[in-house]
Amino acid sequence: MAVDLTNPIFHDENAARKHLESVRWPEGPVCAHCGSKRVTRMEGKSHRPGLIHCNDCEKPFTVTVNSVMERSKIPLAKWVLGFHLMAASKKGISSHQLHRMLGITYKSAWFLSMRIREAMGLDPETSSPIGGGNKVVESDETYVGGKKKNVHNGKPEPKKHAVVTLVERDGAVRAKHVPNVTAKNVKEHLSANVDKASYLMTDESKVYITVGKKFAGHMSVNHSQDEYVRLGGFVHVNTAESFHALVKRGMYGTFHAVSEHHLQRYIDEAAFKWNNRIAVGIDDTMRATNAIKGAEGKRLMYHQSRSAGSAC
Ligand SMILES: [Zn+2]
Repeated sequence: MAVDLTNPIFHDENAARKHLESVRWPEGPVCAHCGSKRVTRMEGKSHRPGLIHCNDCEKPFTVTVNSVMERSKIPLAKWVLGFHLMAASKKGISSHQLHRMLGITYKSAWFLSMRIREAMGLDPETSSPIGGGNKVVESDETYVGGKKKNVHNGKPEPKKHAVVTLVERDGAVRAKHVPNVTAKNVKEHLSANVDKASYLMTDESKVYITVGKKFAGHMSVNHSQDEYVRLGGFVHVNTAESFHALVKRGMYGTFHAVSEHHLQRYIDEAAFKWNNRIAVGIDDTMRATNAIKGAEGKRLMYHQSRSAGSAC
């Protein structure tokens, strides 16, 4: 893992705050409440460090307000290290590892990791569709979980959970947990995320027949007849299967039991790493910076992550 632990941003609160501010506000502080740039830093011992006053809405804020870090009692340097460790880890990092490496309670580490996954999630309102003219987008389904130890609210969850993955060849991925793989669910996911000018590649599942007609082209590979690759290697869903392997490796190798309630966050983490991979020129540091950028405007509330404590 290429994280330089001697960097002051990982152990000095002021350095960590400056780092978070420079990522969130590269051109200087912007009010976290109203977006105004007419702000004044509150210096002096009577104010908590990093406090800024907005001269328009008259409200105070810091770099953590209106972000996944808001109201957290975890020191900022530990947040910054948490972002870097999670962004640099290929297979994912467990809450137990974070607990040991950051020196915070297991419960705090679990909540921090869930908030960082939230930051890694794409904002559906600002993310652009994948694919386009002369581009190939693969769509494929997989099933994860389903082990007896997947217990949620005291009940075992023997059901396997479906994930539909859309991935542009040599491009970005959009993956989503759906209750069932139906024509309706697949169509919704495709319509929201894929440019209609794309060529669609799927397996032979009937759920794609109708929606496939909306694209520039639709070809399918018949897995049941051992026909994984046809037309000179053009028709396949191997890219989507590579992404599924990434999701499963993280979930089975590191995270142990993942309940359906939290599944999408783990998918989002894998998708974030795929979309910010070395092959597209993004190194560990840039990936961590992008995760911190994603922290803005998202808050993971107590009721959204029910097994976490409020004192994290
Ligand atoms: Zn304001």
